Amino acid sequence: MAKIQMKTPLVEMDGDEMTRIIWQMIKDILLTPYIDLNTEYYDLGLEHRNETDDQVTVDSANATKKYGVAVKCATITPNAARMDEYDLKEMWKSPNGTIRAILDGTVFRTPIIVKGITPYIPTWTKPITIARHAYGDVYKNVEMQVEKGSKCELVCTKDGVEKRETIFDFASTGGIIQGLHNKDDSIASFARCCFNFALDTKQDLWFASKDTISKKYDHRFKDIFAEIFENEYKDKFAAAGIEYFYTLIDDAVARVIRSNGGYIWACKNYDGDVMSDMVATAYGSLAMMTSVLVSPDGVYEYEAAHGTVQRHYYKHLKGEETSTNSVATLFAWTGALNKRGELDGNKELSDFAKKLEAAAIKTIEDGVMTGDLYALSTLENKKKVNTEAFLKEVKVRLDMMLK
Ligand code: NAP
Ligand code: MG
Repeated sequence: MAKIQMKTPLVEMDGDEMTRIIWQMIKDILLTPYIDLNTEYYDLGLEHRNETDDQVTVDSANATKKYGVAVKCATITPNAARMDEYDLKEMWKSPNGTIRAILDGTVFRTPIIVKGITPYIPTWTKPITIARHAYGDVYKNVEMQVEKGSKCELVCTKDGVEKRETIFDFASTGGIIQGLHNKDDSIASFARCCFNFALDTKQDLWFASKDTISKKYDHRFKDIFAEIFENEYKDKFAAAGIEYFYTLIDDAVARVIRSNGGYIWACKNYDGDVMSDMVATAYGSLAMMTSVLVSPDGVYEYEAAHGTVQRHYYKHLKGEETSTNSVATLFAWTGALNKRGELDGNKELSDFAKKLEAAAIKTIEDGVMTGDLYALSTLENKKKVNTEAFLKEVKVRLDMMLK
């Protein structure tokens, strides 16, 4: 079989530890034998980030803007322990944070569903994708503890004119206050990312806040979503046969539990923080969760939702066998290759990506899986394999599908 050609390069962001090992295995076993892989390579491994004063992260984000699609390996976000371990010049910021700030994007997380691993909510037969607004609210708050006798006010000045509102008069007791903000342009960009992703994946979009209580703050979110939907997306949604649906956050939570999945749930920053962990846990495994950063102008960066699986890496370094799940990292590659194929009109590339996903799912449903899934799977014929053996088993099934 002639290798599949790629017109436009994919931005490849390499990473750290066990996922860096898996990254190379995926390329060697499942990609380069079939594709004339055209990537622009950026090494986001911590050593190289340190050598380049983190410039490589910025460069990789700019390349993503230029080409439109990237695939990223998990990376270490340094803490004090990593400063010593890697002899770092500085405690470099999280690459994901840096990339997200440059692309101004929203992260969408979707579980990969396989037979034999039943979600804790058994009615969730289709994936629920969570989109979390990644700016503002309590994450950029200003707060104070105040003493008895304080009067707390909200003051806003513009052109020398003051607007004041009493928050609370702490005449008889001390207490606490908090100032939150969000920005119209950030909310609008979040809304557009969500509407675009819904169109892209042909799924309904749900959004919820607490506008009945927060009549200005949360209501602003609701209004911006509604306005952008009316003016820019209503017809496109109708043509795609999908729906945008707004409700109160408590109603949304109740509906989510009763649902079968198969939609995107857009969440304000705090709701997304909490609900994404709940949804991910209910589906069973972080190693089966994909993640894509989508910018409002339609740039995509695919990755796995988990980290660098450090504990497995140290075992690997000692020469011990590992059984690390490569599925989310593999799906980052297939997501990116499929999107690249779509944008370039390269059907062969998109078809290959879809077959590779199907081969990975079939492998697990045939009972061949890594240790994390082995512990969860209800299949009777299940067998635990090591990191590399799993990818080779996927290759066997892929070759059958490509015949
Ligand atoms: P982690 O790498 O996600 O691993 C946490 C634990 O979850 C592992 O020890 C492992 O459990 C299990 N696990 C996660 N992925 C797995 C997989 N693919 N296969 C099998 N088991 C898996 O999180 P962490 O240990 O908190 O963080 C490690 C490093 O990753 C940190 O330096 C952090 O900064 C970085 N990180 C990066 C990203 C990113 O780049 N997007 C995200 C999160 C964390 P057992 O050890 O019990 O088997
Ligand atoms: Mg959290």
